[in-house]
Amino acid sequence: MNSLENIVSLCKRRGFIFQGSDIYGGMAGTWDFGPLGVALKKNLTDAWWKYFVENRDDIYGVDAAIIMNPRTWVASGHTATFADPLVECKECKSRFRADKIADGINESVTTEEFLETHTKCPVCGKENWGPIRKFNMMFETHVGAVLPDDDEETSKKNVAYLRPETAQGIFTNYKNILDTFYPSLPFGIAQQGKAFRNEISPRDFILRDRECSQMEIEYFVHPDTWEENFETMRDLSHDFLENVLNLPKNKIHELEVPAEDRAHYSKRTIDFMFDYPNGEEELMGLAYRTDFDLQNIAKESGKSMEYRDKITNETFVPHVIEPSIGVERLFLAVMASAYTEDEINGEKRTVLKLPENLAPYKFCVSPLLKNKPELVAKAKEVYNLLKAKYTNVTWDDSGNIGKRYRKQDEIGTPKCVVIDFDTLEDDTVTIRDRDTTNQVRTKISDL
Ligand SMILES: [Zn+2]
Repeated sequence: MNSLENIVSLCKRRGFIFQGSDIYGGMAGTWDFGPLGVALKKNLTDAWWKYFVENRDDIYGVDAAIIMNPRTWVASGHTATFADPLVECKECKSRFRADKIADGINESVTTEEFLETHTKCPVCGKENWGPIRKFNMMFETHVGAVLPDDDEETSKKNVAYLRPETAQGIFTNYKNILDTFYPSLPFGIAQQGKAFRNEISPRDFILRDRECSQMEIEYFVHPDTWEENFETMRDLSHDFLENVLNLPKNKIHELEVPAEDRAHYSKRTIDFMFDYPNGEEELMGLAYRTDFDLQNIAKESGKSMEYRDKITNETFVPHVIEPSIGVERLFLAVMASAYTEDEINGEKRTVLKLPENLAPYKFCVSPLLKNKPELVAKAKEVYNLLKAKYTNVTWDDSGNIGKRYRKQDEIGTPKCVVIDFDTLEDDTVTIRDRDTTNQVRTKISDL
């Protein structure tokens, strides 16, 4: 069954994802990607970059600093509103996100509304709550030389934040792109990178972690054309998820986010929900952010964010359509879709049916027997040949051939190439297919 537990277990067993700081007992809400996890994650982010940046003429890539001038977060509204409703159990002192432990309330819940739900403490079972308090989720840090005995004013001056989203690194570069590349509307700026959120209760494996990777585009448009550009980005997002990454169409559902649940800056948002093993969860968001960010940056910086149309000379502040994906959420969606348990000739197996463009390895090469030097030498020759051609090729001569197949099935390697005694005679190899387990004989030169 593709339960979350089975996927977590496979991720750990085969070196995709480990608990963060595992050796010290972990660090809540953090995860480390192992060799195969890095390979798959990189294939995902590369596919996105190729699709949305390299294959287009109208989207520019940036890689902005994680620590930004704190005025960024005043302008964006994060300092004031990037907060979750925190509630503390007076009996056992456990702290929770109120809207996650009670039904029928949202992030703007008041103390009275929460108490009316008569929620019991998930830890001690009692019902004795303190008031709801707003907890800002930005990670605070100090920049430069700050000493523990500095007065409050000095240390406050040096406060900075780990960015809670990659989007602001894009907005703050809008003018740089305008002044160096002179793009015509509509055009976009894309960024991939880490973002940090001090979640009150991180959970669900990599779905809600404190440190995550985002892939975001701010697509700048004429205000009159936001609707058609919203539709274009909506279509492209479906195409990327369903046709490039091969996520099952029937597991992706659009959720039109009602006004009261939308982020403070958005006039329209569609959440792309995905059927994860533990239920439906957000996979990506598509938001119409109006000119909220650029107008606020103009106010905070005192610099004009206006765009001048080259033909009509009309000047205005562009509006923005933002597709935003969490890489870890995408990673888990891909893993969950690929995870399969089946039976081959009465034997149960676990197989990761990853699309070939995402699998950590395209081929695994091995000699039929590892104690026959002539087979090993020939297999090494084939391995080097494929490695030079495809890069993502692995070598395996451990255990018997059946064990190797099971291991490669579990990590999603589409093809296993086996060198046997016939290879020495006629330069053909056996290629075994991951999904069908069928084996065919092929010339080395045709690989
Ligand atoms: Zn309690």
